[in-house]
Amino acid sequence: MDASESPSAVFHRSLHTNPIPIIGASGNYLHLSTGGKLLDATGGAAVSCLGHGNKRVKEAIISQLDVVSYVHSATFATEAAEKLARELVESTNGEMSRAYIVSSGSEAMEAALKLARQHFLESNPPQPRRTRFIARHESYHGTTLGALSVSGHKARRAPYEPMLLPNMSRVSACNAYRGMIEGETEAGYVDRLAKELDEEFRRLGPENVCAFVAEPIVGAALGCVPAVRGYFKAVRTVCDKYGALLILDEVMCGMGRTGTMHAWQSPLIDVIPDIQTIGKGLGGGYAPVAGVLISRKVTDTLFGGTGAFAHGQTYQGHPVSCRAALEVVRTINEEKLVDNVAAMGLKMEELLKQLVLPLPHVGDVRGKGLFWGIEFVKDKTTKEPFDPKENVAMDIHEKGLSGPHNITLYPGNGTVDGKVGDHILVAPAYNVTADVVELIVQKTAAV
Ligand code: PLP
Repeated sequence: MDASESPSAVFHRSLHTNPIPIIGASGNYLHLSTGGKLLDATGGAAVSCLGHGNKRVKEAIISQLDVVSYVHSATFATEAAEKLARELVESTNGEMSRAYIVSSGSEAMEAALKLARQHFLESNPPQPRRTRFIARHESYHGTTLGALSVSGHKARRAPYEPMLLPNMSRVSACNAYRGMIEGETEAGYVDRLAKELDEEFRRLGPENVCAFVAEPIVGAALGCVPAVRGYFKAVRTVCDKYGALLILDEVMCGMGRTGTMHAWQSPLIDVIPDIQTIGKGLGGGYAPVAGVLISRKVTDTLFGGTGAFAHGQTYQGHPVSCRAALEVVRTINEEKLVDNVAAMGLKMEELLKQLVLPLPHVGDVRGKGLFWGIEFVKDKTTKEPFDPKENVAMDIHEKGLSGPHNITLYPGNGTVDGKVGDHILVAPAYNVTADVVELIVQKTAAV
């Protein structure tokens, strides 16, 4: 069948390639209609954190269908939604005070932006002029127009530029491989980036800025780039100086993926956001579910003001999605999977640096926990990226999917101003074993 004849053809990344029929999935493997199987090293885009076919989550979903499948959460409370929200708040050690549950990361980002605005409209005294958001180049926050407006992924924004929110601006991402000047220390780099942010606040007029938005570890736009130590403390200080909120987008790097339940709990990030978004690993692929975790500072304003978030979606707090997510979170906790992520992450780092980094066109290997990016360059010394038209990452992805490799590697095209190389992401399930980590790295090196 020609790929364009598929009834779902609009979903597929490339109409030149037929979508691959998947007839089953279990653990770390996807089962093909040809009888073969693919080693799932990415769980989609860092989604399937428990692997495939988890019986516990399946039973939980079925049990929820027996209780209630849907009610509107503006009027009704369900045990599933209440327990999930409680579990999520507790996972922040009480730093966050409420959880708002939606269906996708983009919706979570939309809600986060609106929440920040409402916070300032209802603060005492109200600060209605705070309508501007500062985000970062080379970031990705989602596909809806608001989330896309803050995103630094220029190529994805380009066709919609005239339709995007007008009050967005961007500063440099924290990217040690590409951003640090020769001879510069990490502290010096952090200082330079904090000054750039400070200058952007002053350029916009600090009284006009609502929030600074960033991914603690940049996912799809850059390929798993962790911030340099001290960076988030420095940007938090700038936000505090000007009274703006800090929104952390943990849709991809959160929920245990990088070795702590929330990326901000790691000593590398070490700041508490005012608003945080989560997604992907929250549902582990078992249900479409994402969320916004909201600090007391923001909920206090809301509860002292109109009393509720002026927002609402049909499927917010959906009982079946919440029940699935609750079981995913409980499984992560009870099976101590965040510890496994940290331990297997160290093994993955060691092996990637040993087997993949020395390869001729690999410029950088970086990441944290089970969230790793491999950046490809034309020239290792000059770091010159490949011409985006060469589609290097996509080629590697497609080569990996075929024999003898049979592995999923998530591609990212580094077209950001032509300055960033193509990359692939490796993000296996949290319950991965050392043997599977070895297999993933061996296959990745061989592709
Ligand atoms: N934020 C980040 C950091 C993401 O990586 C993504 C998706 O890749 C999103 C937001 C949007 O999430 P979704 O695709 O679920 O709408």
